[in-house]
This record gives sequence, structure tokens and C-alpha cells, in this order.
Amino acid sequence: MPQPITDIYLPRQAKVEQIIVENSQISTFVLAFSDHTYNNAFRHQPGQFMMVSMPHCGEAPISISSTPTRPGAIHLSVRRAGKLTAAMHGLRTGDTIGLRGPYGRPFPMEQLQKKDLLFVAGGIGLAPLRGVINGCLDQRDQFGTLTVLYGSRTPSDIAFQSDLGLWKKQGVDCRLTVDAAEPGWDGAVGLVTSLLDDLKPNVNQSTTLVCGPPLMFRAVLGRLASMGFSDHQVLTTMERHMKCGVGICRHCHMDGKMACADGPVFSLAELRQLKIMELDG
Ligand SMILES: Cc1cc2nc3c(=O)[nH]c(=O)nc-3n(C[C@H](O)[C@H](O)[C@H](O)COP(=O)(O)OP(=O)(O)OC[C@H]3O[C@@H](n4cnc5c(N)ncnc54)[C@H](O)[C@@H]3O)c2cc1C
Repeated sequence: MPQPITDIYLPRQAKVEQIIVENSQISTFVLAFSDHTYNNAFRHQPGQFMMVSMPHCGEAPISISSTPTRPGAIHLSVRRAGKLTAAMHGLRTGDTIGLRGPYGRPFPMEQLQKKDLLFVAGGIGLAPLRGVINGCLDQRDQFGTLTVLYGSRTPSDIAFQSDLGLWKKQGVDCRLTVDAAEPGWDGAVGLVTSLLDDLKPNVNQSTTLVCGPPLMFRAVLGRLASMGFSDHQVLTTMERHMKCGVGICRHCHMDGKMACADGPVFSLAELRQLKIMELDG
């Protein structure tokens, strides 16, 4: 049995087993806890996150991008943003980092069963959804149709290309768009909302999971509403600067709710109760 950790702020050592370069700014780190017993016993749910620590950089929350249906390794897909994530991008296979978690309220997978699922993501926003999508594919008969709409700045910025290829092969309707084309790109050009124009979802039996930058998020919400989606049918994850990750320090406070413990997954109906910048404008 793994030893219980008594200090909730104490990270456990995890080793980098593999690094998947997704694009020039995003890599997926495949990690395993150095304590094999703990590693084998570790379980999470899609939408949860880990607090990652790097020497001299502090900690940052990162979504688990792997699916609980494939235990044994934790995938963290990381976009270079500041000090800690830049240090992660300097890691090599065999290096170690600190991890604590999993934390946060996950996606309500049981409520999603039998539903058609529409995933809408931009950039690194596909990271928290990757675990949901792979989980649905591993339990294919429990979910309806799977559609992924993914927007990137340019064709070279398209991350998770190997996942997108595998998902297509497994029958997921994957549609890509870029803000600006490059030579050789013959796909869609435009915001991810433009991909919604060609869709005819069975709204009554669908749920959408939307993750991406605030501008994209707002535009997608407007379009989904005009398609007939209610606020209860839209789920997302909220990004806030966090310290403790477990609802104690209140650093990620959002009008009475803690992004780390009450979220990061929220329905749009829940977010409407809060005064948050993502819904302004
Ligand atoms: C639940 C959750 C899940 C996440 N999942 C992922 C993920 O899967 N992959 C991923 O790449 N990222 C993820 N993030 C975002 C990631 O935690 C942040 O980008 C984190 O700040 C990176 O740390 P850093 O030290 O590299 O950058 P930082 O030094 O923290 O800087 C990152 C950016 O934030 C700005 N910033 C820094 N401090 C503040 C502040 N106090 N207020 C406002 N802006 C500030 C900086 O100017 C910079 O633009 C997630 C965040 C949350 C809350």
C-alpha cells in the first residue's frame, strides 16, 4: 500500500519518461512517480490538475492530459508561458520534477454518458480535453458521437497532431482551422467559431466542452447559444493563478468560488452566477 502523505504541500518526485514535442511552444511530458507502488496506485479523473514544482521556479497548476483509462503514466501538456514552464521545456528524459495532486473537480463523466459530445478548443485548450476524448474512445459504447473543433494560430502551431490523426482513424469528426494560412495549407482559415457554422448537432442530446483563450471562449459561447445550447449544456475549465491548489489560500477566489477546489471544471450556468472577466464584453 502507498504510504499516506501527511503534508499536503509536499510534492512527490516524478521522472520524465518521454517528451512528445507537440509544436514549438507545447510539449507533452509523460511522467511516472519514482515510487513505483504509488505510481501504480495513482488515479485521477479527466479535468483534474497537478501542482508541478521545479527547482527555483515554485509551482504551477497543469491539467492532466492523459486518460484514467490508461493508468501508469501521467501526461502533462505544457505551453511555454513563464519561468516554470520554460524550465519544464528544458527537461530531458530521465530528469525529475515534483508533483502533487490530483486536484480539482473533474468533468462529470457519468452525466456525459450516452450524450453526443462536441469539443471546442484553441491552442493549449485541447490539453484538458485530451484525457476526456481518449477516455471516451476507450469506452466507446458509453458515449454518442464525438466531434472535435480545434483552432490554432497557424498550421505550424497545430498541436496534438498525432492525437488528432488517431482520433480521426477512430471515427472522431475532427475539424481544424487556423487564424492565418501558410504555404501548403488547404484547410479552413478563420476562427474556431466558423467551424460551428457547418455543424448540425442534435442539440437536445449534446453537451459541449469548450477550452481556450478568453476571446475564443466568449465568441464560441455566443455561437453555441444561437444554436440552441443552454448554459447547462456547456462545460469549461477556468484558469486562475493558484497557490495551494486545494481551496485553502483563496488565491484563485472567483466571487465566492475557488477555481482550484470548486473547479476548475464549471458549467456555463455556474459561471453566470460569478462575476468573471471571461464572460464580460
Ligand atoms: C487548473 C489549471 C490548469 C492548467 N493547465 C495547464 C496546462 O495543461 N498546460 C499549460 O501549459 N498551462 C496550464 N495552466 C496554466 C499555467 O498554470 C500557467 O500558465 C502558469 O502561470 C505557468 O507558470 P510559469 O511560471 O511558466 O509562468 P508565469 O510566470 O506564471 O507567467 C505566465 C503568464 O501569466 C502572467 N502572470 C504571472 N503572474 C501573474 C499574476 N499574478 N496575475 C496575472 N498574470 C500573471 C505572466 O505575465 C505570463 O504571461 C493551467 C492553469 C490552471 C489554473
